[in-house]
Amino acid sequence: MTVMAIDVGGTRIKTGLVTGGSLLAESKLPAEAAKGLAAALPRIESELRKLCEREGIDPADCHGVAMGFPALVDFKRGRVFNHYGKFVDASNVDLNAWCEDAFGVPFALENDARLAMVGEWQNGAGRGFDSLAIVTLGTGVGTAVLCEGQPLRGPHFLAGNLGGHMIIQPGGVPCACGVRGCVEAETGSARLPERARRHPGFADSVLKDAEAIDYKAVFSAAAAGDRVAVELRDRALELWGALCVNLARSFDLEAILIGGGIMGSADVIIPSLQHFCDEHADMPWGRITIKPTEHPDHMALLGAEWLINEKRNA
Ligand SMILES: [Zn+2]
Repeated sequence: MTVMAIDVGGTRIKTGLVTGGSLLAESKLPAEAAKGLAAALPRIESELRKLCEREGIDPADCHGVAMGFPALVDFKRGRVFNHYGKFVDASNVDLNAWCEDAFGVPFALENDARLAMVGEWQNGAGRGFDSLAIVTLGTGVGTAVLCEGQPLRGPHFLAGNLGGHMIIQPGGVPCACGVRGCVEAETGSARLPERARRHPGFADSVLKDAEAIDYKAVFSAAAAGDRVAVELRDRALELWGALCVNLARSFDLEAILIGGGIMGSADVIIPSLQHFCDEHADMPWGRITIKPTEHPDHMALLGAEWLINEKRNA
């Protein structure tokens, strides 16, 4: 049975049709997040209809519509809790009513990292594990946890989603989440140019002339021995390593899957995080596995089928 899948991001909205663990069709839309979520829904509906038409599927015959959203969400009610500055109208949008009007099929809303975690657990790098976490490294730092074969949600659906906002440097950089020194504020790529410019050696660094100071530029300059880039890279790797150890110890994990926009440097990131965990996460049962995600572009879409089945069986 086919499921319609939506992965809402700050810059792009991905839509797709999923069946039997694979993606039948997909497309991408500009998010135009400043215009709000309500304004994006007609475009999403029309895109899903186009995909169905192309595949010869009647949308009303689909099993449901699953949406991943980049914020904390109420899974039971299908409502967005907060927006952290993206799609500021999101918490007022009745997505269940939209889906009922548009397609007349069941709707499920999930946090984007949790949906991605489900996608990788069911159809990617997480297959075979019962307890794992996903960490998405990019503009922000997203996390989600699978505990004994069930996505961990907690009584208010926040459990496992706030790993990126664990305080790792008390008194450090302020974050939109309301604390100082969380992993996202200290390592997210959004604040990377500011961290580079604050470095006392910045005037002598090749990063000064970089077109954009992102992790790609930092990892490449660090590989060439640039002192500022080496320090920025090593500091980020250390804090991400600490995040992995904190998650592994908090949730008794077997594996942590690493994904997100900066995984072009996976050849450095994965061995470094594995090494950090081997050194610092002393687990009585053995060794935690650090792996890259298998479907970096589609992991949330691939979680849609499992999510709709869960919703329908609830
Ligand atoms: Zn934060």
